[in-house]
Amino acid sequence: MTVVALDLLIYWQHRLLHINGLLWRLHRVHHSDTALDATSALRFHPLEILLSMGIKIPAVLVLGAPPGAVLLFEILLNGFALFAHANLGLPSRFEHLLRYAVVTPEMHRIHHSVLREEHDSNYGFQLSIWDRLFGSYRHATRDAPESFPLGLSTFRMAHEQTLSALLIQPLRSAD
Ligand SMILES: [Zn+2]
Repeated sequence: MTVVALDLLIYWQHRLLHINGLLWRLHRVHHSDTALDATSALRFHPLEILLSMGIKIPAVLVLGAPPGAVLLFEILLNGFALFAHANLGLPSRFEHLLRYAVVTPEMHRIHHSVLREEHDSNYGFQLSIWDRLFGSYRHATRDAPESFPLGLSTFRMAHEQTLSALLIQPLRSAD
């Protein structure tokens, strides 16, 4: 129950990060990665991590969630984050079945499309049901899955991808 409730919470937190202009400046540090692999799952601005903790800790207290369930959620969340960002090609029939239950790398790649209407979809981290339930599910990209550009239309230069540039990226004007 705790795992499902926290997964729903971070689905909506993720949507909020895309909707609110100031929060998007923090979250777009993650989205400005122009190539997806498991390291992308670790690329978040420190202020977004603090914000996430500031939402999750009160939620755990309100839910009265047992420590073991919170630990299980965190283990699953990190495992699924690595999986969803991994540069993996799953057999398509298996992938289509799997995405009825959980977020697959192909499903999450769409969330990293350079096109706004595509990166404003597939917000889920673990269960894929939230996107289907709340109307944000997108099955495929406009272009072929292996050829659509990832990242953002801005912040694509090598000097904009350094650690220091990423840390101050939220201060730069929105794209
Ligand atoms: Zn996002």
